[in-house]
Amino acid sequence: MEINEIENLPANALFELADGIRKENYRNIITYSPKVFIPLTKLCQDRCGYCTFAEPPARLEAPYMEEEEILSVAKAGRAAGCHEALFTLGERPELRYPYAKEWLSSRGYSSTVEYLVAMSKLVLEETGLLPHANAGALHHDEMLALRDVSASQGMMLESIEPDLACHRNSPDKTPERRIATLNSAGELEIPFTTGILVGMGESKHSRVESLLAIAQIQEKYGHIQEVIIQNFLPKSGTAMHKHPPCPEDDFLETIALARIILPKEIHIQAPPNLSDDFKKLLTVGIDDWGGVSPVTKDYVNPERPWPELEKLKQITESEGFELAPRLTIYPEFASNLKKWVSPQVAFPVMELSDSSGYASSDPLAPNQEFEELSEENWFSGSPGSLPDLLTSNGKSSGAINEAVEGIKSGEEANAEILELFLSARGSEVSAVADLADFLRKEAVGDQVTWVANRNINYTNVCTFKCRFCGFSKGPLSLNLRGAPYLLEIEEIASRVAEAARAGATEVCLQGGIHPDFDGNYYIEVAKAVRDAVPGIHIHGFTALEVLEGARRLDEPLESYLRRLMDAGLASLPGTAAEILDDEIRKDLCPDKINTEEWLEVHRTAHKIGLRSNVTMMFGSIEHPRHWVKHLLLCRDLQKETGGFTEFVGLPFVHMASPIYLQQKSRRGPTFRETLLLHAVARIAYNKLIPNIQASWVKIGFDGVRQLLQAGVNDLGGTLIDENISRAAGAQHGQMVKKSDFEDLVAPLGRTLVQRNTLYGTVDSEKTLQVNRKGRTLLPVVNA
Ligand code: SF4
Repeated sequence: MEINEIENLPANALFELADGIRKENYRNIITYSPKVFIPLTKLCQDRCGYCTFAEPPARLEAPYMEEEEILSVAKAGRAAGCHEALFTLGERPELRYPYAKEWLSSRGYSSTVEYLVAMSKLVLEETGLLPHANAGALHHDEMLALRDVSASQGMMLESIEPDLACHRNSPDKTPERRIATLNSAGELEIPFTTGILVGMGESKHSRVESLLAIAQIQEKYGHIQEVIIQNFLPKSGTAMHKHPPCPEDDFLETIALARIILPKEIHIQAPPNLSDDFKKLLTVGIDDWGGVSPVTKDYVNPERPWPELEKLKQITESEGFELAPRLTIYPEFASNLKKWVSPQVAFPVMELSDSSGYASSDPLAPNQEFEELSEENWFSGSPGSLPDLLTSNGKSSGAINEAVEGIKSGEEANAEILELFLSARGSEVSAVADLADFLRKEAVGDQVTWVANRNINYTNVCTFKCRFCGFSKGPLSLNLRGAPYLLEIEEIASRVAEAARAGATEVCLQGGIHPDFDGNYYIEVAKAVRDAVPGIHIHGFTALEVLEGARRLDEPLESYLRRLMDAGLASLPGTAAEILDDEIRKDLCPDKINTEEWLEVHRTAHKIGLRSNVTMMFGSIEHPRHWVKHLLLCRDLQKETGGFTEFVGLPFVHMASPIYLQQKSRRGPTFRETLLLHAVARIAYNKLIPNIQASWVKIGFDGVRQLLQAGVNDLGGTLIDENISRAAGAQHGQMVKKSDFEDLVAPLGRTLVQRNTLYGTVDSEKTLQVNRKGRTLLPVVNA
């Protein structure tokens, strides 16, 4: 549609078109940024006719906020769950007021922007809040300096109209100056916020021109993350106090025009505190409420307080939307930090973001404490407080609802649908969990299975340099916990016998890639295990170990796998898969096998009759689209071979992981992501891979209880001697008893059943049998 046609559309048609675009690109998610407002200085060299923010020196106790004051506001924000420190200030007051210049120079600063850079750095380093610098029209070098200490910057374009009365005494408000700032931000790859003011005397046509100018700059640089549409309201004490307020119709129309004219990737924001009935804004194209503070007031519009966060949530949800917390840097930019922020800022962003780039915590979530983020909240491997994600009635609307109905009627979930489910928020999470639960019941009924097993990690010495691995003692992790060890073959055999006497039906064998191993080591180990307890299920050797063993012997993969099988190997763990995407593997485990090699080992294993499982270590550096890719690659292989028995989700445990300690990863997935990933695995695999296992070692029993209602049907092993997750910092214990599992499962009305590795049932009452010669025999297996 041509621009003049759009401009002339009747309001209802305009709203409908805008709402459709919003729905298609952002569905029903409305974001907000929990923030504190830091008005660094209220002095300004400009004299805009509508402004109550700027004050003359005589009305101020001090020209600038002092360091301690700034830190105290930021710390209060952090304690209340905020992620953003919004620095707002007048433009270059030192050029107008000697008082400001003197204050700055007495503290060693030559300009307001220099002071802003120092204070942004302080807040970032001391509190972890992400600074957003809103300092007006800046020069290239100033923006560059701010880029090193902030996650995003912003400046309202306001209007492209050059001769507005309200800007007559404001040298920084010329359209040329504003456009130059927008272009500089683009050249510097700064995630940027801009916007227009509506109703301050500009024509409707010039609003459209302003939007077109922003669209043009965006096409060149792609750095504009959001455009704020703000309505003019007259304020007493300003030159424009008698000017009429922006008519609501003009305001709503401009929001709709922005949604239609601007490229779809730009988020549209309207502040909720500047409208009496802000729910109307939800129907004309916005997808963001902007920064809302539970701690500080809106210093630019002090007479219009922000709605309470609870009210914002309640109104947003009552209109059929889900409210999601975001950072000052939007998800699309937070998902590509190498490009969009300086290296010093990348880790602070990762500290606060989830795998999609949204905020990982929400001040509106129950049971959240923010003072000591790392101690109080849930992380995989640590027993923090958990949100109850399954409290709503599982009803959803829109795209998720349609997708749920499609799957229930027999559609196979494709990548798009799986990604959609992974983006679920609020009540949608329950809807996805309910679907997974429904499919679980259909596929495997109400039994919850477990296996009695023992992990034997024969060595922690490894020549590989997986950057997430806190277990191996190799070049990257010598300083981490534990001494290097290599178990003697006799010790392995004795641990197997001990495990069998304790009722284990499976030993799980995996370890580091010791420099002295050749492929025959693994064959020797398998034989020793078989000889120690004939018939115990040997679940062992990752795709990396298998491929490395074959390589070191220069033996074809299939022939080597056959020899392992002859030596007693019965199934392969899926570990070493991490994330099956070579771009991610380049950063996570650069010298490890690649995606195709992992698939090929499993393909070959299945071909000769071995079984294996799919694992996924998720939540470190990758995006949910990589999870989907991983799930689907394995689904394709399962269609080809049928050899996978189960899917095991392994949330990344960050605490002692080298990649986290080097500040190159997030703190693992959020609990919402953990729950959704298991649910989505159930939806992706349905009956094709009928068993979905939750790792209690990493997730903890409280988390697993919710996962059992979201598609999971298996608890994995009792895991005597689990070392790998613990080496990465997991604290959920080393072994559980059958009664622990019973206590977990019984309140859910499900039946606990012991299984063997291949999901045959085991009579646990008869697990321990010793023959006349004192050799341990295996439990009765009904495979
Ligand atoms: S994950 Fe395995 S291969 Fe990688 S460093 Fe750790 S022990 Fe070695």
